[in-house]
Amino acid sequence: MQRGETVAVVGAGMVGVCCALELQRRGLKIQLFDRKGPGQETSYGNAGVFARSSLIPLNNPGLWATLPRLLSNRSPQLRYDPLYMLRQTKWGIGFVSRARPAAFNRTATALDALIRLSMPAHRRLMQEAGVAHRLRDNGWIFLYRSAQAFANSRFARDVYDRFEIATQELDPAALRDLEPHLLPVFERGLWIKDTCSVDDPGRVVEAYAALFQARDGDLVQREITSLQRNSQGHWQLRGRDGRSTTANKVVVALGPWANDLLEPLGVAAPLAFERGYHQNFAAESGATLARPVYDTAAGYVLAPMEGGLRLSTGVELTERDAPANRTQLELAEAAARQAFPLGARAGSEWLGARPTLPDCRPLIGEAPRHPGLWLAIGHQHIGLSTGPGTAQVLASLMLGEECPIDARPFRAERFIV
Ligand SMILES: Cc1cc2nc3c(=O)[nH]c(=O)nc-3n(C[C@H](O)[C@H](O)[C@H](O)COP(=O)(O)OP(=O)(O)OC[C@H]3O[C@@H](n4cnc5c(N)ncnc54)[C@H](O)[C@@H]3O)c2cc1C
Repeated sequence: MQRGETVAVVGAGMVGVCCALELQRRGLKIQLFDRKGPGQETSYGNAGVFARSSLIPLNNPGLWATLPRLLSNRSPQLRYDPLYMLRQTKWGIGFVSRARPAAFNRTATALDALIRLSMPAHRRLMQEAGVAHRLRDNGWIFLYRSAQAFANSRFARDVYDRFEIATQELDPAALRDLEPHLLPVFERGLWIKDTCSVDDPGRVVEAYAALFQARDGDLVQREITSLQRNSQGHWQLRGRDGRSTTANKVVVALGPWANDLLEPLGVAAPLAFERGYHQNFAAESGATLARPVYDTAAGYVLAPMEGGLRLSTGVELTERDAPANRTQLELAEAAARQAFPLGARAGSEWLGARPTLPDCRPLIGEAPRHPGLWLAIGHQHIGLSTGPGTAQVLASLMLGEECPIDARPFRAERFIV
């Protein structure tokens, strides 16, 4: 790829906006398309955590012990639609089979590299975009309701030690010192110190997009309905408004909607949807949290946001567009009310879908058989954290430059032939 060539990035969530910024920084001319505005979908509604500890996906060697409980479909961490899972049998087998230690180690190593690459870039971008004040550098806390539950987290703690992730075990008094408004229902905490969070993820993406525009980037609100390679080898993007654009290369960064454009090209990725909900709350009588907390028994994250407290749920495996089902959110709310003096609900619930490949690694690279079609998709639970690292990997590959981390674990050929 030559500097000065044009690239169309489709999707302005955290991943797409970061790709646009990085390619622009490297001298390419970028048009960024989104059918809404930047950061209004999955990148808006998440828990806002940039977590080093998120290198352990759900399909880790500990899955075997928890599988019977998860399959009962009563766990607040994971619920599923059995009919959806029947249709996703291949994905399910691929997912569960990657809980083997060797496969898990490959994924954890790859995710760790991507997360570590991303954090310094986020810090730089937040400075440049004028949103550094939104960043909290004080970690997050995993909460355990019994000493036994903490003991059961041995596997995860060993992984954190192996990857040199700074943690500190907390007894109830130490927990109270850090988070005085938590109610006394937790026997232990694990403070993951190498973690940051933001108080409004959607606003951060908006600010990054504004930075892209301030640097002469072209942000276009348009729903793209098809991609086609023309006889000159350029990519033509057709919009729902009837307009077309041509670019030398295209980057698909459509999060859960990626296959809407990839399927007609015969390069669909095996994505399943780990849906999640959030509900915002006022805090009662000034109670607050200094950092996000994860209640390991109930599977929710409670995070302080600019507008109050955001309760976000675990995983609901179902169709992306299936109607909302409040069960998981209500279970999480009941558990969170035992843990923290939550006030009234603020606003209505939000629902989003984490797009997940069977090995839980994002897919970053050129699509096989489709020169000039680049993919940055499948960011499951960590797309907010890993947007900038994804962008660096993608830009290096596109420009034929040395990649800052091993890009092979993310290549498209894992799933697309
Ligand atoms: C409940 C929950 C909590 C989470 N918590 C965290 C967290 O704490 N930390 C973390 O790192 N990650 C978290 N995640 C995951 C994270 O939010 C996602 O991985 C990330 O937002 C994915 O970003 P993206 O840019 O790939 O997708 P998106 O943000 O969904 O962006 C895709 C964009 O494509 C646009 N689009 C769709 N179709 C079209 C079309 N045809 N034409 C043009 N534009 C289109 C959409 O409007 C959207 O803006 C969480 C997710 C959920 C659901």
